[in-house]
Amino acid sequence: MERAIFINSEVKSWHEAAIHPFNFSMMYGVGVFEGIRVYKTTDGRKAFKIIEHIDRLFESAKILNLKIEFTKKKLLENIKLLMNEISSDNVYIRPMIYCDGDGFLGLRAKTLTTHLVIAAITWQYSASKEQKKQGLNIITSHLQKGSPNSGYFSAKANGNYLPNIIALQESKNLGVDDVIFCDQNGFVTEASGANIFFVKNKKLFTSSTVASLNGITRTTIFKIADVLGLTYEVLDFKKEDLYCADEIFLVGTAMEIMAVTQIDQRKISNGYQGELTKEISKQYENVVSGKSPQYQEWLTLV
Ligand code: PMP
Repeated sequence: MERAIFINSEVKSWHEAAIHPFNFSMMYGVGVFEGIRVYKTTDGRKAFKIIEHIDRLFESAKILNLKIEFTKKKLLENIKLLMNEISSDNVYIRPMIYCDGDGFLGLRAKTLTTHLVIAAITWQYSASKEQKKQGLNIITSHLQKGSPNSGYFSAKANGNYLPNIIALQESKNLGVDDVIFCDQNGFVTEASGANIFFVKNKKLFTSSTVASLNGITRTTIFKIADVLGLTYEVLDFKKEDLYCADEIFLVGTAMEIMAVTQIDQRKISNGYQGELTKEISKQYENVVSGKSPQYQEWLTLV
């Protein structure tokens, strides 16, 4: 596996990169990040929707009121610079903006500075055809998603992941693959690192982004649905709607499209990836690997 890191305005070897253990972001989770995939295409390796990811990173920083000292153009240049260190075609890029409180341990650090780090690593987690067919077994977390007044869920902020990680680890201990969270009204929001869709009578449904991340894959699915002539609706729905769905799938940059074939011990349909999930997943693969000519503007050479 290859990996490279950009820190303090230069490319360093993985182990050379160091941040003080009592760093402010490390203590309090104040930081924002992105996850971007690079795919092999017929005309070179390309990052999928990197402009959208960079835009979201800047918006996340704005929401947390972090001051960014560089431009979007510079970030893209630095990502390309880092990619020169990696020869593989399938790569995961993780830019992160973190804060440094200059050694101050308390909450009230006076001089908070923001810094950019970027990691690029060989991608090595793709699901096999068989795993896709089997799908995921998920549960609803006993942890409730906070109300929109309790945090900023549109920001991809480091600290937002605390409940997600706790719940995900609990689900792993129970031998299941992932968790979803409901909000204070019992409406389904999202999974630990993905948005959720379900299919009923050939129509797609997904939750709003009131208490979920505005997923970049989620928006891609809307476009794919249009092209496939499928209708979709954004609405509030409950766990029961999932239990009685014809198909369920999770979507995210890392996960891509994964069927959910069991939820809270209820089997979905025949317990295998559904037909529409399979079709959408196939279209998504074509889009990210440059096989669909109409989506070239979503792909950037890196
Ligand atoms: N929700 C959460 C909590 C996530 O971590 C992710 C992954 N970034 C998503 C949804 C899906 O977002 P995207 O499609 O932009 O990767």
